[in-house]
Amino acid sequence: MTETTDSLFLFKTIYRQTPVSTQIFTTDGETVMVNKAWEKLWNVKFEQLGSYNILQDQQLVATGTMEYIKRGFKGEQVDLPVIRYDPSQTVAIKGARERWLAARIYPIKNNKGKITHLVLQHEDVTDKKNNEDTLYRLAAIIESSYDAIISKNLEGIITSWNKGAERLFGYTAGEIIGKHITTIIPKELRKEEAEIISKIKRGIPIKHYETVRVKKDGNYVEVSLSISPIKNNDGVIMGASKIARDISYQKKAEAAIRESEERLRLALDAGQIGVWDWDIEKNTLTWTDNVYKIHGVNRKNFEITFENFKNLIHPDDVNRVLKLIEKSLLKEAEFAVDFRIITPKGDLKWVTTQAEISHNKNGKPVRMLGATSDTTRQKQIEQEKSDFISMASHELKTPITGMKMFVELLSRELAKTSLEKPIHFANRIMEQTDKLTELTNDLLDVTRIETGKLQLKKEAFNISHLIQETLDTLQPTTTHTLHFKNSKIVGVAADRYRIYQVLVNLITNAIKYSPQGNKVEISLRTTASEAIIGIKDDGIGIAKNKQDKIFERLYQVTDPKLKTYPGLGLGLYITKEIVERHNGKLWLKSEHGKGSTFYFSLSLNKN
Ligand code: ADP
Repeated sequence: MTETTDSLFLFKTIYRQTPVSTQIFTTDGETVMVNKAWEKLWNVKFEQLGSYNILQDQQLVATGTMEYIKRGFKGEQVDLPVIRYDPSQTVAIKGARERWLAARIYPIKNNKGKITHLVLQHEDVTDKKNNEDTLYRLAAIIESSYDAIISKNLEGIITSWNKGAERLFGYTAGEIIGKHITTIIPKELRKEEAEIISKIKRGIPIKHYETVRVKKDGNYVEVSLSISPIKNNDGVIMGASKIARDISYQKKAEAAIRESEERLRLALDAGQIGVWDWDIEKNTLTWTDNVYKIHGVNRKNFEITFENFKNLIHPDDVNRVLKLIEKSLLKEAEFAVDFRIITPKGDLKWVTTQAEISHNKNGKPVRMLGATSDTTRQKQIEQEKSDFISMASHELKTPITGMKMFVELLSRELAKTSLEKPIHFANRIMEQTDKLTELTNDLLDVTRIETGKLQLKKEAFNISHLIQETLDTLQPTTTHTLHFKNSKIVGVAADRYRIYQVLVNLITNAIKYSPQGNKVEISLRTTASEAIIGIKDDGIGIAKNKQDKIFERLYQVTDPKLKTYPGLGLGLYITKEIVERHNGKLWLKSEHGKGSTFYFSLSLNKN
């Protein structure tokens, strides 16, 4: 072998084996030589090229490569920018993937200096490009992160610093990269860094470590740190990446919650209010100290179970409480109740408790959260008030009866004379005495109701007749026309005097609360089992949201202090009690400003 053949063989081999795809073609576009890398890149063998002419390759035209080829023919050597090629468009090869390629073109001249061939070399940079893209994307994420993301080497020198870190610590990347990490660690916490580095060196990540760092302006900031070791391709730990999150706001919020809880606890303590929490699903009850105190039991030896709680309730109240719990769990009632308890020591106490019930999305009750307080003292005061009313009204009754008797005697004596003025005065005294009698009677009735001593003396009578009688008594006292048209006999068995009292109350209210009106209509109708009496006025009416309340003791719609309408707010309370004691109902239809009709029902007396 000659030296030339030898080196030719050598060059050919190198050409075949070089990892850069290389294609040599003539000025006519005919490919004369390709290497292994070319065959691999385009997924085609040289023998398969057939009549392929590179100057006709549309993909090379489309990507602009043809422009460079032309420049190559003019003798230039050109490096192409990285271009995306779709090889299936070039040589119609199945299975070829899109590639990112860097290309170089250079001419080959013969010994006369004429260009005979061109060389087109391609380097596949797809992986590099993808890596670059990923890195670019990662860098963008890191830059845009609100958290501070920092990296440092094992000596603690800061090597990267994102926008979040600039925002959090106040240093720009330019100012701090190359400085030691202790720049942002408060002096008193410097030893933390040694611990962190020692962990990182052992490859141990640190998660959500709450600490304090110092900002450029010297202020401290509370942060949560997550630190992970950074390894190189060989798995050797090179440094650490650190994510710092500003938790000052969170810390402040936590402190605010703690503070408000504390305030609530103080308020509950001051009001001696106990809070209990019943997890219905797990059936567990928790009590605060006050609940134990109120029930006179000890946290140490009292186990809070529903059963044990039930045993503390006064036997006369237990059913009422249990029923209300049942009803409120079914959303049929609000849970607010007063009841008595008997402590293990035997003390009787009144408690009041209110609760909210939470339901899950299927409507099942899951939790009951309540507040309890000891109302024994209030109940005592109420009782004392009631006792006072009872005593006062009893004590008043005797002198009033005496007054009435003597004023009647006086009137009778005066009637024999012609002393007009004294006769008139005596009549006024009589009227006022009657009012006083009514008031004391009301007070006595309230006492009777509250002590369960309101006795009914039932008898059979014609209600129609009683209504007429009531109207005959009331008509002379008012300018309103009291209208009733019903002569049917409607028999009821009731306490005649008490029903009379009901009629008087409702009719006098109708008159009193229709100052502009001129009539009150009384109606009577019967159903199969009941007589229903209606009292209708054209008066001031009652707003819907007040309609339940007017039956409460001492309740008045208009501010009692204004004294717009005289009264004590007892009439309807007594009326309702009387009607209900007869197993009847009392209800109303009314609209604010449009008059009211009160109804009550009584069972018919079939005999
Ligand atoms: P009072 O002594 O104040 O009349 P009641 O118990 O009889 O007490 O009535 C309670 C409240 O109900 C009254 O203060 C009044 O505000 C309202 N009320 C009762 N009857 C009527 C009515 N017919 N029209 C409008 N409001 C009424």
